[in-house]
This record gives sequence, structure tokens and C-alpha cells, in this order.
Amino acid sequence: MADIIQLLPDHVANQIAAGEVVQRPASVVKELIENAIDASATTIKLIIKDAGKTLIQVIDDGKGMSTTDARLSFERHATSKIRTADDLFQLHTKGFRGEALASIAAIAHVELKTKQEQDDVGNTIIIEGSKVASQDVTVTPKGTSISVKNLFFNIPARRNFLKSNTVELRHIIDEFHRVALAHPNISFAMYNNGSETFNLPVSNYRQRIVNIFGNKTNEKLVPVEEDTEVLKISGFVGKPEYAKKTRGEQYFFVNNRFIKSAYLNHAIASAFDGLLKNGTHPSYFLNLEVDPQTIDINIHPTKTEVKFDDEHTLYALLRSAVKHSLGQFNIAPVLDFERDSNLDTPYSYNKTKTSTPTIEVDKSFNPFQEEAPSKTKRTNYKKEPVGSWENLYVGLESKGTKTQQDFSEVHFESEESTGNMFSDDKQVDKIQTTYQLHNKYIVSTIKSGMLVIDQHRAHQRILYEDFLKNMTIKEAVSQQLLFPLQLHFSVQDIAIINQLKDDLEHTGFIFSSVNKESVEIIGVPISVPESEVSIILEQLISDVENEVPDTHFSATDLLAKSMAKSLAIKTGQSLQKDEQEHLVNSLFACKEPNVSPTNRTTFITMSVDELDKKFI
Ligand code: ADP
Ligand code: MG
Repeated sequence: MADIIQLLPDHVANQIAAGEVVQRPASVVKELIENAIDASATTIKLIIKDAGKTLIQVIDDGKGMSTTDARLSFERHATSKIRTADDLFQLHTKGFRGEALASIAAIAHVELKTKQEQDDVGNTIIIEGSKVASQDVTVTPKGTSISVKNLFFNIPARRNFLKSNTVELRHIIDEFHRVALAHPNISFAMYNNGSETFNLPVSNYRQRIVNIFGNKTNEKLVPVEEDTEVLKISGFVGKPEYAKKTRGEQYFFVNNRFIKSAYLNHAIASAFDGLLKNGTHPSYFLNLEVDPQTIDINIHPTKTEVKFDDEHTLYALLRSAVKHSLGQFNIAPVLDFERDSNLDTPYSYNKTKTSTPTIEVDKSFNPFQEEAPSKTKRTNYKKEPVGSWENLYVGLESKGTKTQQDFSEVHFESEESTGNMFSDDKQVDKIQTTYQLHNKYIVSTIKSGMLVIDQHRAHQRILYEDFLKNMTIKEAVSQQLLFPLQLHFSVQDIAIINQLKDDLEHTGFIFSSVNKESVEIIGVPISVPESEVSIILEQLISDVENEVPDTHFSATDLLAKSMAKSLAIKTGQSLQKDEQEHLVNSLFACKEPNVSPTNRTTFITMSVDELDKKFI
């Protein structure tokens, strides 16, 4: 038989390699910025259009490339960073595989402009799908500019697989944060669709963190310093009271390289032991310096894992350094067996004079008026105090009010199909109809047998339909806050809030102002306790960032889902009889009572027949 093995042509090999190196626009951003850092740039600009789907450009003032190097840089395994395999163990650069540019050029339209300091003119190379279209001499400043256009133009499947612009931009910003945090001595700027998103001058580490995450971050940071023979630790952890529900701001850098490590993350978590509210995660920005010979950087291009020679020691050092810092800054409780610390004056009250409490009176409040005058056309302010459990079923208990009547045309399919599901035996109704099992399920009697409801999922469904309804008819009921609530967010979180502001207002939120890094809220939906507002918004922002591709995306729906998730009664919460009954009734007043907003089963039934069979 004839020989059948062939060597793959270079452009095919490059496309295959590209699959590994370039998963999404953010991977290109990472590779290009890392190259700029390796070229000793002091200023790096990132320009993005359409979340990188149309354009990703990185401009640096680094050392540039010679004419020959400019051409060679697009060849596979072309690198200036290592010469022998031994160099791999002494890495001080980010790149070393010589694959990034070759891979990117295989799947996009690339334009490179570069000039070295000593040269009068530089070079422009245009390369499309691995084919060099042109190479010309150009006038260009010292350094390198690489534009990557129409990513995946020749691999439609990959292009279609990209997520929505919000999600892809989020990934880009994540990469940008990671490199910018690792290099405060380099100035970075990022422009998205023509407007400046970040402008980060050269600064110290603390200032860099604040420039990225907003001014409010400053007061949240606790410094961590430790210098031992095997490990140098520097950076900050966030004070426990600012811990978030999402894991956003957690950064480890090893020798200036961002890494992920569940093991080291655990070390931090254990240092915070006992200081955090359930389900919250501390933020941290920690730089670890170790001898490059004692680590093995996984040489897969996109992986961020590192193998340490002596993980146990690192764990112990990190944990104790963080614990020490928390203790030193009076954050961790210090055990003292001599005194009862409950009797101590909290530090912040020391030397402060006692003050007379003041009461603020809402002069416009008229107890004889049913509803206070509305401030906006679509929002009614209700003054009635909000009880704790009644709000769980908001909207449903107020049947017959204007809002409800307006909506009475909506036809609940389930009314017919489930209307007679419950036993019409009045006596049974009066005696026990519901029972809570393990603070998780509500068990109830129905005509045919038994019903078991998952309380958390069921309540999500109820709230979800309620929010959707309010957003659709734009008749939400707000409760006015006595004091405006000021919440701080990062610039990109504010962008998301702006995007959702209209819908949020339809649920009952009232924003008095939205600034660059903060929002002021003066009204919240009647079902939302004030203490939950920041958690709800945080959850919402993180849900938007992780949302599904554009096609299925509806801001309204996402908002309703997210708020329902945050506010639904949790598994483990014990419910009174009337609360249980209300939950059951409200669930079956829903349009789609049988699934949660995320399509999970909310209840099951078991007929007497089925039960009988079990007793055979
Ligand atoms: P690697 O970074 O692994 O060496 P790349 O494909 O990313 O591989 O880059 C290939 C080579 O091109 C680099 O080794 C470097 O010499 C050169 N190069 C790439 N980007 C730049 C830049 N911004 N400035 C100067 N040289 C660069
Ligand atoms: Mg590189």
C-alpha cells in the first residue's frame, strides 16, 4: 500500500495550535499585553471594539522589532525568549513558546507596526490567515502596535460560539485587571468602543488596586507583608466586613504572573475563619515571590496553574501572614482570658462624646392619606411598614388593589388545570393541610394523594413571576427609604447597572443618582429589605456577566430571575403554618408552577394508588 502520512502544511498546523492558544478575544488580549511587557514597555494601551470581535489592538512603547524579527515573529516556535531547554527553569519572561503570534495570525487579520529605538523607520506587516499580504517600510513611533481584526473570520464555528459582548468584554477586562495588577510600574489604558474605560498611571500597588476597583476600595484594604527565605509575600486582603457573595476580587500573583490556586485560596479562607458571614468570600490581592527554580509553570499557554515544590510550607506561611495582618489591624478577635472583651469600649468609640439621638420626621407623611403622592409617574410610594414574611408574597396578598386589577386580564393557565387539585373536603382543609419537612419541603394533602414542594424553588417561581409582571406592566410598588442608600461599585459594574436601570425601576427601585463609581437609591421594591439591596445588585451584576449568549438574553427576564434567586426563602428556613399555606397557594396561582425560573422541578405528587403500591 502507498504511504499515506503527510506533514500538515504550516497554516493548518497554526490553526490547530490557535485552537489551544486563542479561545476567545480575551486570550488575544492576554498574549499581546504579555508580549508588550516582555518587550520592556512602560506604557501599554489596549483598544477594543465590539468586545474584541471586531478589533483588539495593543500599542506599546517597548523595544520594538527589527525588520527580520518582525517577519519571523509570526513563525511557529519563533521566540527570542529562550534558547535552550535549561532556560525554561529560569524564566523571567511571560512568553517562551513562540506560538501566540503565529496562532493569532492564523485566525484573524493582523497588522503589525514596529520600530526599534535606533532605527529611523519601522515596518508594517499585514498578515491574514497566515498569509503575508504585505510588508512595508513605515514611519511609526518606537515600540510595537498590533491590531487583530475579525477574529475567527475563517473558523465560523468558533466565531458563532463566542458569547455575548457583555460576557466577552468581561473576560477581556478580567485579563486586563490581572496584568495591570501584576505591573503597577507600567502605565495602562483601555478604550472600549471609543471611550476610555481605564486609565492607570504608574503608581504603587495600593493605588493601582484603587484605580481599578474604585476609590472606596482604599479603606477596605489591609496590608499583608512577610519576608522569609523561601517566600516573600506582599499585598492586601479585604476587611472581612466587605467580603462579597461572589468571588470576583481574588488575585494571586506568583513572580508577577496571575495564577489560580484552590489550595492557596483555602489558606486565605482559613485565615479568615470565623470572621466572615456565611457564603461570603474575602477579596485579596497578593504577590508571592519565590525562586523560579522551585516552581513549575504549566507550559500550557492558557492555563494559570503553577506547581510549587513545597506547597505545605507556602500554605502555612500564607495563612499565618494573613492571620497576623488581620489581627494586627484589629480585625480578628484576639483571645484574652483575663478580661471579658464584651465589656471593652469598641476602639472607634474611644474618646468620642456621647451624642443625643436625633429623629428625622417625614413632614410630608399624612396618615390619613392612603398613598403618598407619587414622585414618578409609574411609582407609588407606600408608607406601610413591611412585615418580615408578608413581603415574601408581595403582590399576591394585595389582590384587588389597582395594580392587581390592571393585571387581572392576565389569564393564569394553571387556575383551570390545578384549581381542583386540592382536596375540596373542607374538613381536611381546616385540619392540617401543610407540613414542613426538614425545613426544606412543604408537604400537603391533595385530592389524589400527596404533594411535596421544594420551598426554595417554589418561592423563586412566585417571586420571578411577580417581578416579571411588575416589569411588564410597569406598576411596581416602591417603599421609600428614610435615608438614601449610597452604594459603591466599580466603573464596569456601574455600566451594567446603567444598562438595567430602566428595568430595575420597573421593579420598584428608585435611583436618585448614578455616578461614576456609586449609586444613590431612595426607593426599593416593597419585597426587598434594605439590608439585601447591595447583595441583590451584586448578584445581579455577576449574573449579567455570566449570562447566556445574546440570542436568549432578555434583561428583564434575567433581572427577575436574579432577584428571585436572591430573595427566595432558603432551604433551612423554618416556616409558620400560614406561611407554608401561603406559599402553596401562591405557587399554584403562578403561570408555570411546576418549574423554578431555572427549570428545576418545584413539586412532585404522589397518588394514594402509588402509596398503596408501596405497602404491598
Ligand atoms: P513568545 O512570546 O512565546 O516568544 P510570541 O508568538 O508571543 O511568542 O512572540 C514571538 C516573538 O515576537 C517574541 O519572542 C518577541 O521576540 C517578538 N514580539 C512579539 N510581540 C512583541 C512586542 N510587542 N514587542 C517586541 N517584540 C515582540
Ligand atoms: Mg508571547
